[in-house]
Amino acid sequence: SNVLVDVKEVKKYFPIKGGVLKRTIGHLKAVDDVSFSIYEGETLGIVGESGSGKSTLGRVMLRLLDPTEGKIEFNGIDISHLSRRKLRVHRKDMQMVFQDPFASLNSKMSISELIEEPLIVQTNLSKEERMKKVIDIIEKVGLRAEDRLKYPHEFSGGQRQRISIARALITNPKFVICDEPVSALDVSIQAQVLNLMKDLQDDLGLTYLFIAHDLSVVKHISDRVAVMYLGRIVEIADKHSLYKNAMHPYTQALLSSIPVVKANDEVATLATPKERIRLTGDLPSPADPPSGCTFRTRCPFAFEQCGLEKPPLIEKEEGHYVACHLHS
Ligand code: SF4
Ligand code: MG
Repeated sequence: SNVLVDVKEVKKYFPIKGGVLKRTIGHLKAVDDVSFSIYEGETLGIVGESGSGKSTLGRVMLRLLDPTEGKIEFNGIDISHLSRRKLRVHRKDMQMVFQDPFASLNSKMSISELIEEPLIVQTNLSKEERMKKVIDIIEKVGLRAEDRLKYPHEFSGGQRQRISIARALITNPKFVICDEPVSALDVSIQAQVLNLMKDLQDDLGLTYLFIAHDLSVVKHISDRVAVMYLGRIVEIADKHSLYKNAMHPYTQALLSSIPVVKANDEVATLATPKERIRLTGDLPSPADPPSGCTFRTRCPFAFEQCGLEKPPLIEKEEGHYVACHLHS
């Protein structure tokens, strides 16, 4: 199928200021040379620990942040250097669902006003047309139209996430970035919201980038999964290939820590005990990443070459890419 979003060699570096003069003394490489495509109608999951750069990447893709280098093409158009004014035309096609944005907000806006707002900013629809759409989307996300004059704090966490989804979908976007949309919710509510997102995707023909911090959340919703570590993609593959045949030691470590329920109901892990890889130590600072392979400080298989050269992301099997010297 067609490529909807093409990310080409994107970098996002934040300057680090220091000293009395507040001069730039270094750079935090939040996203460091990332390339991938998203196909129309699919869900690409992106997984990484906090600090891996996945949220920054999402924000750069929607131009909520400007890239330091590289290109983002949306529907064949390079949006990475468009002026704010020219970008406005594309805004309504690309939206973001955030993790419970109304949680701490004692908003003076009713949910109807919150959901309507993107239509006011991004379209020229009349008040009447806007209200029709608001009621329609409120019902589509499983809330009741008669509750539209209530305020966000009157809803549960799961319901607020539905409001956030409604607000993202009100402009009929083609592409939606979901930034940990269920991480703050109870597991039982997570499943409901994920099912809703899947149904909405099918009904509305949406393409998703789904950001999460562990592989279990993206397993069911994703078609393909990318694993990020310190600003780089270390593995990307079709989900079946990734979960069955993870090649990168970091992906293997993430998979070994997922509890899975077996057919006989006993809880086991995906990997057998002798294959389990434990992740030790913290994520190194993206301001001062290790030389060569940035995973080497935590990798049980690290060898000499790993400190000397950055492993390139190469295609080992059809559509299955990995960046590790064990596989190059
Ligand atoms: Fe481990 Fe070396 Fe592979 Fe990096 S390149 S993941 S350090 S084996
Ligand atoms: Mg984040």
